Amino acid sequence: MTADNRGRRVFVKHKICRFCADPSLRIDYKEPNALAVFTSERGKIIPRRISGNCARHQRQLALAIKRARNIALLPFTTAKVRTKEYREF
Ligand SMILES: [Zn+2]
Repeated sequence: MTADNRGRRVFVKHKICRFCADPSLRIDYKEPNALAVFTSERGKIIPRRISGNCARHQRQLALAIKRARNIALLPFTTAKVRTKEYREF
């Protein structure tokens, strides 16, 4: 933990690539529900340092999400009213 996090319990997602851990999991642009787990509230792709994916799978995932967006299975962005709750991304 860094000095910034001292004294505070920071929620850290387990840093293991779930695609490496479970070979039965597939990255498929035709499965938007599975991909949506790796996008933020605003529709952005969750960065690798947060999701814990390895470089290879993060790349495949990003590509799949972009494909899914292109055929309107996933949103590019969410047109929600901008409130303080949605400022984080
Ligand atoms: Zn992996």
